[in-house]
Amino acid sequence: MKIFYKYIIVYLLMLIISCSGGGGSGESYYQYHTPEDIDIFLDEIKLNYPDITAIETVGYSETGRVIKALVISDNPGTLEGEPAVRLTGGIHGNEMMSVELLIRFIEYLTYGYSTSPDIKNLVDTRYICIIPVLNPDGLAVKSRYNRNGVDLNRNFNATGTSLQKETEALQNFSSSKQFCLSITYHTGAVLVNMPFDYKSKLIDGIFPVENNLINSFALTYTDATESNFLANPDVYNYIYNSNYGDYIFLNKGTINGGDWYVALGTLQDWSYLQTGCLDLTVEVAKRNPTSEAGVQQIFMYNRGSLIEYIKKADEGIYGRVTDSEGTPISNVEVTVTWDDGGETTTGDIKIKTDSNGYYNRILLAGTYNLTFSKEGYTSQTTSKTITTSERSLLNIQLVPL
Ligand SMILES: [Zn+2]
Repeated sequence: MKIFYKYIIVYLLMLIISCSGGGGSGESYYQYHTPEDIDIFLDEIKLNYPDITAIETVGYSETGRVIKALVISDNPGTLEGEPAVRLTGGIHGNEMMSVELLIRFIEYLTYGYSTSPDIKNLVDTRYICIIPVLNPDGLAVKSRYNRNGVDLNRNFNATGTSLQKETEALQNFSSSKQFCLSITYHTGAVLVNMPFDYKSKLIDGIFPVENNLINSFALTYTDATESNFLANPDVYNYIYNSNYGDYIFLNKGTINGGDWYVALGTLQDWSYLQTGCLDLTVEVAKRNPTSEAGVQQIFMYNRGSLIEYIKKADEGIYGRVTDSEGTPISNVEVTVTWDDGGETTTGDIKIKTDSNGYYNRILLAGTYNLTFSKEGYTSQTTSKTITTSERSLLNIQLVPL
């Protein structure tokens, strides 16, 4: 009889272990992709969809792991003046859901290219660059930090030896592509965090120079027609800010980063202030799901939002800067100014032309002054009114000094 009870206890223990491992739903424990799995996955995608994908090397991690990007576009090897969009996961290696979300989105776009006219149109008219994992060393050991114990999302203002290889790689890669729109995925909360992180709107009373534009793009992610972000029951409605001494309510899942908590050296602030690329920090889950169904559910809360957001990359001004003989000029600085009605704002946003002379500036409808300048050429300032949400074309010829 004693032996019989022992068997019962062992059986019950096994039952408890199997339930907790399967997220309580009886499914097998979800196996997150390792850095090596991701390399194999990207190679397979490239093999299956060679016409619309290209694998590029962003750089190398501190231990020498390669950081890869997958470009999805109709001519993935060429910058053609299409809006360049960057999607990044795994900047914190223990936030595996951010990586899985992008893996699923890659599958969705590549498979959908031949089955959905909408996806084909989106891919044909955008340059979509997906970096599933920026911190492969962290992902390998499920750590927030890189191999040197550095939080990469606080490293973007660093200089000299403090600048980590992963950070520098993304900075150089981004400069070569001149992205105009971006998202960086995280877990730990469920909300959309907008520029800036280094100052609080509420406490400092200072607004980003393009506050309306930033709000408009963030709300597109959470609340446009196809967006499903707010369907997630875990979306934050408010947070408590101890410096503010009170609760702050989110606007349909969106919040200024500095109102949540102030952070210096984030990718979001660097992208926007140094390269003119609007980057949102999207927190997709409080914690990594433990089941396949849980991972898929989080993906579905973000898939339509991502499509709507990438569609919106079409708003603004674009064009090509050439000399009088039609030769494209790269690295031309494009500064946009307008009458902001005397708001207290900060941030002088500048963009540059890419290696093919193209520029893309996301803007809301309005009248803007654009100044094009590069050493050795006479600067040129032009006024342009954008009346619809379509891209406005403005080609420029610069005259050498
Ligand atoms: Zn994170």
